[in-house]
Amino acid sequence: MSKNTAESLISFIKESPVSFHAVENITNRLSGEGYTALFESDAWDVVPGGKYYVTRGGSSVIAFRVPEKTPVGFMMCASHSDSPTFKIKEYPETESAGMYVRLHTERYGGMLCATWLDRPLSVAGRVVVRENGRIVPKLVSIDRDLVMIPNVAIHMMRNANDGMSYNANVDLFPLFGDTADRARFRAIIAEAAGVKEEDILGSDLFLYNRMEGTVWGASEQYLSAPRLDDLQCAFASLEAFVKAKDSVSIPVLAVLDNEEVGSQTKQGAASTFLFDVLSRITEALSLDYRRMIALSFLVSADNAHAVHPNHPEFADPTHRPRMNGGIVVKHNANQRYTTDAVSEAIFTEICKAADVPVQFFANRSDMVGGSTLGNISNTQVSLNTVDVGLAQLAMHSSYETAGVHDTDYMITALTKLYESSLKADGDGAYTLV
Ligand code: ZN
Repeated sequence: MSKNTAESLISFIKESPVSFHAVENITNRLSGEGYTALFESDAWDVVPGGKYYVTRGGSSVIAFRVPEKTPVGFMMCASHSDSPTFKIKEYPETESAGMYVRLHTERYGGMLCATWLDRPLSVAGRVVVRENGRIVPKLVSIDRDLVMIPNVAIHMMRNANDGMSYNANVDLFPLFGDTADRARFRAIIAEAAGVKEEDILGSDLFLYNRMEGTVWGASEQYLSAPRLDDLQCAFASLEAFVKAKDSVSIPVLAVLDNEEVGSQTKQGAASTFLFDVLSRITEALSLDYRRMIALSFLVSADNAHAVHPNHPEFADPTHRPRMNGGIVVKHNANQRYTTDAVSEAIFTEICKAADVPVQFFANRSDMVGGSTLGNISNTQVSLNTVDVGLAQLAMHSSYETAGVHDTDYMITALTKLYESSLKADGDGAYTLV
């Protein structure tokens, strides 16, 4: 079971080089399952028994199902579609050393730079083109090894093993070709998009790592792939959402872009996207939005740090997540994670009912950790929320490592979440149904 899931996850990641393709994969799957696309610019005909999804900006998606009975609350999971990478500038080509053409890029998010060097990379994203008088987005993915960021030989940089610092304007530009290839980048993109070069009006193009995922380890218990943060959670929540049986709550799947750069975009967790979709659902069904939210629950699912085999000292002495140890519930006193006693209790009860193991994460008290989308989303839609993730190594490497069995744990727990609903008894007391 876990190995099949791992293979499905690896192929989902392979088909999702950047956020636009991740969302396209998700919407293709939902369409195949009978979900109808809604557009924010249209009037919505949302009816009991209906299955829908909405995208914004082509890189965030929210899907939901309406039960036949009068709905009680939204049961939701949110993850993110983006990963750290390099964005290609509008005029990327630059000559170097009188013999090469490199591509100018900017860092997108906080990556481990060294992991992007000396491996085949390519380019994916979207172009916006002129087509019969319209302005139309088209996804593009160059499905071949196209560029590489070469290291400097140890003989020429003797301090290369002593802690490198990378200058994004010097060390991290990928090699594209020789000077004869100077004008070819846009032509290659146009050809891959199936459009004329002169019809391209805009582009959002990124590097992606071409290495395929693999299952490894003495007992085949580990899985390594690009973009596990956060496509492992996006994949698991999609599987759970599609699989869950109807309850009286409205199940909601949210996969949002731009978490790696702070979520403050029109389609990120800081945007109105989730609020707009939820409030339009309640309007369409003549429900009270505020009462619905009071009976709702959000799982903010974003990967977590496993204890490192070579550096166990970086982990908190008493919170030591392990790969294949189950879902990691994250706590932070400064509320970078949303988990509180109430949301911890609700979520761990769901996991218990689903027979899924739970472990806990907190930063070492002298370390500041990362952030995620749960607390940001709560500034737009405020409700009981828990921050969870799957334990992984090398977060923000271009090739990350996680536990083979944990994806199944997440699918099982989120299926149970989507099949549950909450009854409230005053403020803070709940019954899980
Ligand atoms: Zn993440």
